[in-house]
Amino acid sequence: MAAQAGAAQAGYRPVDDELADLYPADRLAAAAGAAARAGLDALLLTPGPDLRYLTGYDTHQTERLTCLALPAGGPAFLVAPRLELRSVHASPAGALGLEIVPWDETDDPYRMVAQRIGHLSAVGLADQMWAARVLRFRDALPGTRQGVASTALRGLRMRKTPAEVAALREAGRAIDRVHAQVPGWLRPGRTEREVAVDIAGAITAEGHATADFVIVASGPNAARPHHGPAGRVLARGDAVVVDIGGTMPSGYCSDCTRTYAIGTPPSDFARYYQVLKAAQEAACAAVRPGVPAEAVDAAAREPISAAGYGEYFVHRTGHGIGLETHEDPYIVAGNAEPLEPGMAFSVEPGIYPGPHGARIEDIVVCTDDGCVRLNNVTRELVIVDG
Ligand code: ZN
Ligand code: ZN
Ligand code: ZN
Repeated sequence: MAAQAGAAQAGYRPVDDELADLYPADRLAAAAGAAARAGLDALLLTPGPDLRYLTGYDTHQTERLTCLALPAGGPAFLVAPRLELRSVHASPAGALGLEIVPWDETDDPYRMVAQRIGHLSAVGLADQMWAARVLRFRDALPGTRQGVASTALRGLRMRKTPAEVAALREAGRAIDRVHAQVPGWLRPGRTEREVAVDIAGAITAEGHATADFVIVASGPNAARPHHGPAGRVLARGDAVVVDIGGTMPSGYCSDCTRTYAIGTPPSDFARYYQVLKAAQEAACAAVRPGVPAEAVDAAAREPISAAGYGEYFVHRTGHGIGLETHEDPYIVAGNAEPLEPGMAFSVEPGIYPGPHGARIEDIVVCTDDGCVRLNNVTRELVIVDG
């Protein structure tokens, strides 16, 4: 029946029940409307999080152009190398009823895009488009002002749908299962790098498609928020900051930090860890719709400053998370944007006085009247028997 075929064309091909609505058919229209409101006549999206968000097509940037063109007023089309056609059709993009325009090795795909969209006064380019492509599009679209697509898409991507929240919850549970195993790998005599290898293996074993980062910062290294695992040998009395995350097959990311102690930690560490835990709690308690993002940062900072550790909390309180580990909204002084239901972000205060440090990080989602945490592994200081 024609009507049924049409419906199947427009709908998403469910891979997993809970995540079946990750790519709703009306998202392209919503994005076109957002582009118009942002003063952009079209969005040009090369592979990356924006393309995946709009179509479900997950592929890497290569020297061959793949580009979704989404005119504010007209139907979208996807220009792709002919050799990638099967992959495009096999992805959720193949079920969106989107016109797919293949190009052959001797074609100029930039001109193909330009000819089809016609003359425009402004286009929004994917924020992570390669500079080389930006310049090719500048040549192909003379007189067209170039901006970034995020001015149109950030509002959509920040407010997670229930299916996106489900995907983030699945990611949160997976990384919680990894943290639950971490105490078993923290042994005196092992190097940070050895522990990191165990953790990276568990990140994929627990369901992630990729392990994106593994911070194992022990002893004095724990005072450096982004320390990468190195050759330092774990010792009794160390505090160890373990900040880990990956990307699930859904495309959604996890990010969770816990701080562990091997044997009895220094007494000043034990004291400020409790301050930190209270600060993280206070920041989560401050989350609800209408509250400015910066108020959550202030809620984390206040108890830390009151206890005299303010100068050692050297980073913002959090960042949005979704198809990217770091995205809008940023939980930082100066961001007065009010929180809204569906916004997902980290709450991760830290105290780094040296020669040790600590951080506690959960992903939370703003609800109608507060927030839910997507990480629920214990926030009590876990003391590993040295
Ligand atoms: Zn970070
Ligand atoms: Zn983190
Ligand atoms: Zn984070």
